[in-house]
Amino acid sequence: MKVNAYAAPAAGEPLAPTTIERRAVGPNDVLIEIEFAGICHSDIHTVNGDWGPQPFPVVPGHEIVGRVTEVGADVSRHSVGDRVGVGCMVNSCGECTNCRNGDEQYCAQGMVGTYAATDRDGTTTQGGYSTHVVVDADYVLTVPDGIDPAAAAPLLCAGITTYAPLRKWEAGPGKKVAVVGLGGLGHMAVKIAHALGAEVTVLSQSLKKQEDGLRLGADHYFATSDPGAFETLAGRFDLIVNTVSAKIDLDAYLGLLAVDGTLVNVGAPAEPLDVNVFSLIGGRRSFAGSMIGGIALTQEMLDFCAEHHIGAEVEVIPAEKVNEAYERVLASDVRYRFVIDASTLS
Ligand code: NAP
Ligand code: ZN
Repeated sequence: MKVNAYAAPAAGEPLAPTTIERRAVGPNDVLIEIEFAGICHSDIHTVNGDWGPQPFPVVPGHEIVGRVTEVGADVSRHSVGDRVGVGCMVNSCGECTNCRNGDEQYCAQGMVGTYAATDRDGTTTQGGYSTHVVVDADYVLTVPDGIDPAAAAPLLCAGITTYAPLRKWEAGPGKKVAVVGLGGLGHMAVKIAHALGAEVTVLSQSLKKQEDGLRLGADHYFATSDPGAFETLAGRFDLIVNTVSAKIDLDAYLGLLAVDGTLVNVGAPAEPLDVNVFSLIGGRRSFAGSMIGGIALTQEMLDFCAEHHIGAEVEVIPAEKVNEAYERVLASDVRYRFVIDASTLS
């Protein structure tokens, strides 16, 4: 099946309209007519070559929401007409310890990314900046009624990427949580940590988004451009979630952790981050990383968000504005996720 899409033809080149082939619907596959696809900073890292060479042309997009239009003979979890979502992962081995533990994203054979990855049949995956996608039913999520579909799309990456560490490191009542960077991931982290009952602080480069941060659920808001903030907040947090897409001075942030506190990095900048071990041993602190989340946890997150009336704050754009949106994300000028209206690709 030939479908319309937007693709990056080569590293660092603007995205342009194209057509791509989607595979025939297999026995365990679902065909989805895409309604919305979020723009994640990872899409930009990928097409700009920050993370190394890619199999161009690349159709990005791993925050996909749409309607099921066809199911394979063996599919029982999803039916035609259902509203569904696809995140960053469309396959894994299903048999290794990590897959069996529900951590398919850490599959020992390598999870198959939604785009720019080699699927288990040897083909290259292409993502959600497109009108349709065919995905194995086991990697297709149910989007609960009651979440606006455009606002739901970013949950499939930004939502689960922040929900997973907040759950793992037990953000909740009595816990002080800081979120570094108020972008796509950061604003979801604020909403989710607040809904989990934690005391939430935003650490942003400036105070420009302070009003928004407090409205989204933060209790406190500080500008990291003010060195006084690091003195005021020294030793305060149980958990810091760093969502920044660029290199930051990690030691300064580690100093904000209480004894036994953890800084979890979800931001994935091109350059390595430096850590002075004294920033850790001086407070029995931990520095950790976390990548998206497993399928069951992603469904749990979607259900949690529906129950708590949480969606992303989105700016819906036609596909032709994608390059402009990339520029604005790179300039930290996103409030707080761009979402492509896939009907503009038809
Ligand atoms: P985003 O919307 O661009 O948000 C990043 C935020 O970081 C910006 O809004 C800005 O917030 C802050 N920031 C940007 N440049 C900065 C700098 N030089 N110094 C300090 N702060 C800066 O990006 P996103 O989509 O949320 O993604 C964030 C990062 O997470 C990316 O690296 C992405 O690849 C990665 N990611 C990782 C996973 C995972 O599984 N671990 C999943 C998805 C994305 P303020 O303006 O508030 O300072
Ligand atoms: Zn993403």
